[in-house]
This record gives sequence, C-alpha cells and structure tokens, in this order.
Amino acid sequence: MSAFQEYFDESHQLVRDSVRRFVEREILPHINDWEEAEEFPRELYLKAGAAGILSIGYPEVFGGSHEGDVFAKVVASEELMRSGSGSLDIGLPPVVKWAKPELRERIVPQVLAGEKIMALAVTEPSGGSDVANLKTRAVRDGDFYRVSGSKTFITSGVRADYYTVAVRTGGDGFGGVSLLLVEKGTPGFTVGRKLKKMGWWASDTAELFFDDCMVPVGNLIGAENMGFACIMANFQSERLSLATMANMTAQLALEEALKWAKEREAFGKPIGKFRVLKHRLAEMATQLEVSRDFTYRQAAKMAAGKSVIKEISMAKNFAPEFIE
Ligand SMILES: Cc1cc2nc3c(=O)[nH]c(=O)nc-3n(C[C@H](O)[C@H](O)[C@H](O)COP(=O)(O)OP(=O)(O)OC[C@H]3O[C@@H](n4cnc5c(N)ncnc54)[C@H](O)[C@@H]3O)c2cc1C
Repeated sequence: MSAFQEYFDESHQLVRDSVRRFVEREILPHINDWEEAEEFPRELYLKAGAAGILSIGYPEVFGGSHEGDVFAKVVASEELMRSGSGSLDIGLPPVVKWAKPELRERIVPQVLAGEKIMALAVTEPSGGSDVANLKTRAVRDGDFYRVSGSKTFITSGVRADYYTVAVRTGGDGFGGVSLLLVEKGTPGFTVGRKLKKMGWWASDTAELFFDDCMVPVGNLIGAENMGFACIMANFQSERLSLATMANMTAQLALEEALKWAKEREAFGKPIGKFRVLKHRLAEMATQLEVSRDFTYRQAAKMAAGKSVIKEISMAKNFAPEFIE
C-alpha cells in the first residue's frame, strides 16, 4: 500500500487502524457463521456507531467526523471489506445533503449512532439502470404523497427502519423523479421476501411494496422533480465505494494466493517457484495496482470537487471485472 501514500495522511492511518481493529475484533471471528445464517446481529450497527465508524465522512454537527473527507471514507471502506462481506452507505447521504432541517436533525444522528438503519430504494422490477423511467408513483394528496409501486434488490431492505425511495411525482423521464423518506411501519408499505444472492449472504436484499402508502410531504428529500440529479450525484460516491471494495477483494485474493503459493508443495518445491504461477501472480498484482491507482486518482479528483462521472463509472466497472 506504500506506493499510494501521496493520497493519505496521518489521520487516514488512524482511521485505518481503528476500523481494522474493529473488524478483527467484532466481525472476523463471526463472519463465516453470519454468512451461513444469511444474517448478522443488529447490535453490530450499535457497536460500529459507538466506535465512530458509521459517522466517518459526515458533519460533526450530527456526530460525524472527517466531514467530506473522501479518503477517510475510502480507508474505512477498504478495512470493512477485509471482513470479506460487503457494506454500503448509500441511503443516508441524500438525507444529509438535501432533506429539510427537521427531517435531517431527527434521522441522521440515529443512523450514525447505529440505532436506526437506512436503505436506498431506486431499482424496480422493470429495471434498474434506466432510473429516468422508474414507475413507482407518488401523487400529492393534501399534506401527503400517496405512493404506489414496488422496488427490488434493496440492500438492507429487510432490516432497515428508513428508506430513501425514488418515486415519480411528475411527468415522464428524469424531470419527474423525486426522493421521499419512507419509514417502516407506514400503512401501505410492506417488505417482501429476502432475495437469494451468490455472495454477501449476511447482507440482506429485499423487495418493497407500496400500496397507497401515505408519506408526509415533509419527507421530501430535495426539491420536487429534482430527484434524478440527487440520485446521480449519490451514485458517484457509491461507484467509488464499489470500486474500492472490489479492489480490496482482489487484494485479499492476492494475499491468499501468495500464502498458498509458498505453503503448497508439488514436485518437490513450493508451487510459487514454478514460472507459470510466478507469471500469474505478477499479473494479478499488476492488475490490482493499476485498478487501485486509477480508483485513487478519481477519488482525488472527487476530493478536489471535480466531476468524474465517466472515470468513476469506468473504475467501478473495471475493478470487479479483473478479479473474476
Ligand atoms: C447485491 C445487489 C445489491 C443491490 N442493492 C441495491 C440497493 O440498495 N438499492 C437499489 O436501488 N438497487 C440495488 N441494486 C440493484 C442494482 O442497482 C441494479 O441491479 C442495477 O441498477 C441494474 O439494474 P437491473 O438489474 O434491473 O438490470 P437492467 O437495468 O434491466 O439491465 C439489464 C441488462 O441490460 C444491460 N443494459 C442496461 N442499460 C443498458 C444500456 N444503456 N446499454 C446497453 N446495455 C444496457 C445491463 O448491462 C444488463 O445486462 C442491487 C443489486 C445487487 C445485485
């Protein structure tokens, strides 16, 4: 990791050390059991909240630390990924950035403390990539929006308390999309089945249904019909997290492969001594270095306030591809 020190300072090292200790103490001893059980204890959120991990990158006024520090979030994401299972922080940022003060002040501290859990609900059964054509409707009815429709593939959707939901408040296309905060327990809102996945079993993925669900207008996040821009802005940091997590997954695979190449003997010597494996390991290390460098460069541009929509999307596409 030393080749990348230009991107990190001492405070990032402190974050890295503290998140790594947390993962070693609270997650690694249990992660295999939790993956098999397809569940992890809710208490882990409280522990992560108390350790200050959930609040990294958020404003101090809500109990956060390292406000807006892109590399503090990168470091936290890398170290959490050492657990081998994924974690995403995508539901809360729109609330912090664009919700009305009353809503923000009520919701954000609870989530950063790990008392409440948030999810982001954009994807629908009819499609995820084409956000501008989402179909879940929210029609104004007095002081409420009447919401009808459904969502799928929602991370933490089973256990969440609050949902940042993309809905159609206006006409067709991206100009008719808004974000609403929906609370679990709101009449007309139900959580469907927990979906099966190929990996990250401990992280639940759900379907959501809205049937004339009445959501107060005060729960609108950002301006009405301006949700598409908020969603796209949120995708930038999500893409950075996903690229970072994929790079760390590759690093873990490389570390395991190097260990095995030294341990395992065949034909009288460790298999790592065979030229064909040396080439393979060198190729893995090279691809990881290239992917990580490209990802960090985009993170640095994001930290400098530049728009890197194309490049961070490339990083998010490249990183999971090369570890396959
Ligand atoms: C583990 C997991 C967790 C997730 N968590 C969440 C979450 O928390 N919240 C949430 O809202 N969503 C979540 N998603 C959904 C995810 O965002 C969508 O799966 C994604 O947006 C793709 O949508 P889709 O699956 O409907 O595929 P579609 O958009 O229907 O795409 C189908 C196929 O068409 C291709 N395609 C799409 N657009 C184009 C194009 N313009 N040109 C050429 N080909 C195209 C795609 O590459 C794909 O092969 C999650 C998904 C997974 C797998």
